[in-house]
Amino acid sequence: MNNKVAVRKCSEYDLHEVYDQISDIWQKCEGPDVSGKKVLLKPNILIDSDPLKAICTHPVVVDAAIRFLQSKGAIVLVGDSPGAMVRGYKGEKSGIFQVSQKAGAEWVDFSKDPMEIALKKGKVRIASVIKEVDLIVSLPKFKNHGLVYFTGGIKNTLGLVPGFTKAKQHALHRDRISFSEFLVDLNEAVMPQFFIMDGIVGMEGPGPGQGTPVKIGLLLGSSNPLALDIVASKIAGYNPNDIPTNAIALSRGLWMKSAAEIIFDGPELESLIRNDFKKIPLDGSENVVIRFLKNRMHFLKKMERRPVFIHKNCIGCLDCIKICPANAIAMHPKKNNYVVLTDIKCIRCFCCSEVCQSKAVEIRRKFFGA
Ligand code: SF4
Ligand code: SF4
Repeated sequence: MNNKVAVRKCSEYDLHEVYDQISDIWQKCEGPDVSGKKVLLKPNILIDSDPLKAICTHPVVVDAAIRFLQSKGAIVLVGDSPGAMVRGYKGEKSGIFQVSQKAGAEWVDFSKDPMEIALKKGKVRIASVIKEVDLIVSLPKFKNHGLVYFTGGIKNTLGLVPGFTKAKQHALHRDRISFSEFLVDLNEAVMPQFFIMDGIVGMEGPGPGQGTPVKIGLLLGSSNPLALDIVASKIAGYNPNDIPTNAIALSRGLWMKSAAEIIFDGPELESLIRNDFKKIPLDGSENVVIRFLKNRMHFLKKMERRPVFIHKNCIGCLDCIKICPANAIAMHPKKNNYVVLTDIKCIRCFCCSEVCQSKAVEIRRKFFGA
């Protein structure tokens, strides 16, 4: 691993253009030798959905990555596991399953015989395919995330934890910092060897599943997820130190000790920063003073960002109820398709918003009365 990050302008999802840029990024960042190796490509398929929604890594980026790795002699496998995944799931709505089949890459079901691995603190069940492959190449999407603000290379590794079992980790790691520590621990245990981020069209606003597609026009790559996430979050207009996964990994000196160690290759970084990108508002919970006040001043707690259910959009699929790690939501006993929140139980993990495909869960700073 090195600290090189390459950023390339890429205006559209044209297979040849994306292929050429991935090839250039790989070379500039000294991607690993994949000849004769089995490589798992791990896109972000948060919710299997139309590529136009920009929720998932675009299928053209997956297609180009498969073809590039195959040209280098790799045997390529592709897979991911959305939060609401059921056994036998294939990423068909996103088009990722189809491009994998067409390019001759094997589709992997992460829910099949997951295995337990030890982390720094505790254990987690992950897709057993990691035992079969020599390398993992992660394909994160450039987008916001309600809980950790910005989702990039470090967060994308969570997809190795199959489907609804992700919720168990939210139950164990109940706030932003604790969950971010878990994400960093997970990457310490099973870190992909290379990352290519799809920032051609990203997602601003209430990501990772309910935001608005926005043209960024970039592909980014690195073998260092922290270096990649620092650069990407900076381009999105965040202070990279406000992204808890960045701050935690830096404070541990894991993959580098300071952002100054990044070796950047691409157009002038300052010129790429999107000050108009709609960010997730920071809630200040990282700040010890605000945490202290929140614990003592009840009204501040009532003003936290929380899930708000838009009943007219609800189709009653129950996915939010199945994934909620705190048993904080249930269907109304009398009203149809009417989800009810028990606010005091809610740990603000926002998994309900991630899995809802009907725009029936919004995350808002809504006053919650006593
Ligand atoms: S809120 Fe969304 S996820 Fe929950 S039951 Fe309704 S449609 Fe399904
Ligand atoms: S209601 Fe939503 S935000 Fe609250 S704990 Fe359940 S899944 Fe998480």
